[in-house]
Amino acid sequence: MKAIYNYIKEILQGIWTLITGMRVTAKYFFTPWKHVTQQYPENRETLKIAERFRGEVIMPHNENNEHKCTGCGICEINCPNGSIEIITKTLVNEEGKKKRAIDQHIYHLGMCTFCNLCIKACPTGAIVMDQTFEHAVWDRTLLTKVLNKPGSKIMEGVKE
Ligand code: SF4
Ligand code: SF4
Repeated sequence: MKAIYNYIKEILQGIWTLITGMRVTAKYFFTPWKHVTQQYPENRETLKIAERFRGEVIMPHNENNEHKCTGCGICEINCPNGSIEIITKTLVNEEGKKKRAIDQHIYHLGMCTFCNLCIKACPTGAIVMDQTFEHAVWDRTLLTKVLNKPGSKIMEGVKE
């Protein structure tokens, strides 16, 4: 008798679970304006990305191809998994004084965990988080990027 009771109980529980699941489906079916999912990639033009979304570290340059990176290496030290490599060069100014400058700010996007530590640590605000997210490539070497653009230089007045 107990076995029959348990059998019926399980059937009723199964039906109740099904109704619960269908209730959610029905709710979204009859109130489409409440959908949180979006049609992608058809909605690229209107895609809304949350402000806090972290897609990729970038180094902004101004219209004169200037950036704020001094080559100090603090971002490299603070990156927990070695996603940043700083290669510096020495510049000599008109007075003969030597000064360190960035040669290549190398960023391994494929290793980055988007923790934001490098950006928080940068003393000059030279790097920021971008919201780009379509990073799929066939060749993973393409995920290694040089953030300072060719021929770029440091902005006037930026100090270590
Ligand atoms: S976001 Fe984090 S993991 Fe990515 S480069 Fe910066 S410190 Fe490294
Ligand atoms: S990005 Fe910022 S922390 Fe990194 S080397 Fe350049 S100035 Fe230093």
